[in-house]
Amino acid sequence: MKIIDGKAVSLKVKDELKEQTKRLAQEQGFVPCLAVIIVGEDPASQVYVSNKKKACEYIGYKSLGFELPESTTQQELLELIEKLNNDDTVDGILCQLPLPKHIDEETILNAIDYDKDVDAFHPTNVGKIMIGNYHMLPCTPAGVMELIDSTGVSLEGKNAVVIGRSNIVGKPMSMLLLHRNATVTICHSRTANLKEICANADILVAAVGKAGFVTEDMVKEGAIVIDVGINRNAQGKLCGDVDFERVKEKAGAITPVPGGCGPMTIAMLMKNTYNAAVHRRNVIDK
Ligand code: NAD
Repeated sequence: MKIIDGKAVSLKVKDELKEQTKRLAQEQGFVPCLAVIIVGEDPASQVYVSNKKKACEYIGYKSLGFELPESTTQQELLELIEKLNNDDTVDGILCQLPLPKHIDEETILNAIDYDKDVDAFHPTNVGKIMIGNYHMLPCTPAGVMELIDSTGVSLEGKNAVVIGRSNIVGKPMSMLLLHRNATVTICHSRTANLKEICANADILVAAVGKAGFVTEDMVKEGAIVIDVGINRNAQGKLCGDVDFERVKEKAGAITPVPGGCGPMTIAMLMKNTYNAAVHRRNVIDK
C-alpha cells in the first residue's frame, strides 16, 4: 500500500510553476497577477486566503488583496469585480466563498470575466470542462487527477466511482475521469447499493463531507482511494471521509487527510492563474 503524499505532489507542481514564471519574467517581461477578494471575517476563509497569497509569493506571482467589510453591498462588490475585469494587469480574480448572506453568490461568480475565473466556477468554464476543451481547471478535481497520476496507474477502462455530486467537486471530478477513459459512476445521497458499487471501484473518490463514511468493506483490494472530505472527528481532529487506518490496509494507494487533496487545490489554483495569464496575454508557452 502506498500513501499518496499530497504535499510532495503539490510542491512539485508549484516548483514547476516557479520555473515557468521565472522564464515568463525573463522572456516576456511580466509575471501572472492574482486578485483575491474576501468579504467579512470568516476565520476559515481568512486562512484559505492567506494560504493562497503565500502560494503566490512562493511561485513569484503578483497578488492583490481586497479585504472588504461584512457590510459591503452586492453593488459595491460588483463594481470592484468590474474594475478588475477591465484591468489589463490582472490575470486572475478569486472571490472567496462563502459570501455574506445579503450577497448572491451566483450573481458574483457570473460577473467575473471567465478568462480570469481561476476557480473555474463561471458557467462558461463549467461548460468547457464538460466539452473537454478547457484551460481553467476545476481546482479540487484537477488536484485529484494529479494525485492519481502520481501512482503511475492508467485510468483507461478502469471503474471509477465518485461519491458526491456537487458542482465544485463531484460533477467536474466525474468529467475529468471520463475524459481519461475511465468508466465512471457517480453516487450520491439517494444512491441504492452504495456499498456494492464502491466495492467494485478501481478508483474511489470520496467527496461527501462525513467523517468515517467510507469503511473497509466498501473498498476493493488494491483500489486507489482518494479522500476529498474535510471534517472534524468526535475528538475535534481534522479527518477525511475515509476510515483511513482500516482502509489503508486494503487499498493499493490512499491519500491522507490532512496532507492529501487539500494542498493540491491551491496548487491547481496557481496553475490556473498561470494558464489564465499566458492565455490572456497570447503568450506562446514553450
Ligand atoms: P456538498 O455538501 O456540496 O456535497 C456532498 C455530496 O455528498 C452531495 O452530492 C451528496 O449527494 C453526497 N452525499 C451526502 N450524503 C451521502 C450519503 N449518505 N451517501 C452518498 N452520498 C452522500 O460538499 P462538497 O462541496 O462537494 O464537498 C465535499 C467534501 O469535500 C467536504 O468535506 C468539503 O469540505 C470537502 N472539500 C475539500 C476540498 C479540498 O480542497 N480538499 C475542496 C472542496 C471540498
